[in-house]
Amino acid sequence: MELYRIAIDWGKRKRFACGCLERVHHTQGVPCVACGEEQYTPDYNHLFENKGWDTKMFLDSGYYADFINSQIKVVVSEKAKKMLTENFGNAVDFGDIEMVSFRDLTTEKAKEIRDYSGSAALKKIPDDPPQYFRLLLKQGADLDFQRTNIELAVDCPKCGLKRYQTPGLTYVGENMPHIIESTWKGCDIFYVEGLGNRMFCTERFVGIYNQNELTGLEFEQVEVV
Ligand SMILES: [Zn+2]
Repeated sequence: MELYRIAIDWGKRKRFACGCLERVHHTQGVPCVACGEEQYTPDYNHLFENKGWDTKMFLDSGYYADFINSQIKVVVSEKAKKMLTENFGNAVDFGDIEMVSFRDLTTEKAKEIRDYSGSAALKKIPDDPPQYFRLLLKQGADLDFQRTNIELAVDCPKCGLKRYQTPGLTYVGENMPHIIESTWKGCDIFYVEGLGNRMFCTERFVGIYNQNELTGLEFEQVEVV
C-alpha cells in the first residue's frame, strides 16, 4: 500500500488565507511534580477536537483554499467537507466555527491586529468569509519509531504527558516517517501517535482529492513497513 504525508500548500503565486481561531486567555500551570513540565490551560489541541467548542475565526486574506491552517489544526471548506463526508465518512468528523468578518471584529481585536501586524494586514481581512469547519481525525496507524528516528522522551504517569523527540534534539525533526502497514485501521486520512498534528493519507485519498480539484494540500509518499 502507498501512504502519504500531508503538508499545507500555502499557495504558489498568491498566498492562501490562514484562519485565526479565537484564543482564550491561557494560564500557565505549575510544573508537574513528577516530570517537571508546565501545562498550559486550556490545551488548544483538546479544545479543537471537542465538537462542542464554541469558537470564532477570521481569515487573514481573501484567497481561499479548501484546506487551510488555523494555527492549531487544519480547517476545511464546505466543498471539502462534502467530499470528505461522502467518501471518508468513517475517518472524519467536523466541528463548527463561527466565521467573523472584518465588520464583525471588535475594536479591541482590530487594535490588537493593527498593533501586531500593521494596518495593511488588518485591511486584508475579508468582509464575507466563506464557511470553514474544524476537521476532526483519529489516530489511524502506528509508526515504527526506530526507523522514523523518534523516541518517547517524556511519558509521565502523573500528568499523562507524552512527548516525542528525535534523539539528540528537543523536538521531532523532519524525519522520513515509517508506518507499520499491519497497524493501519482502514481510515484514508488519519494522525499517527508521535507526530502531533501531522496528517497522513492513502493513495485513494489523493485520487479523490485530485478528482474533486480541491486545493490547499500537498502530498509526499512515506515509507510503509
Ligand atoms: Zn508530569
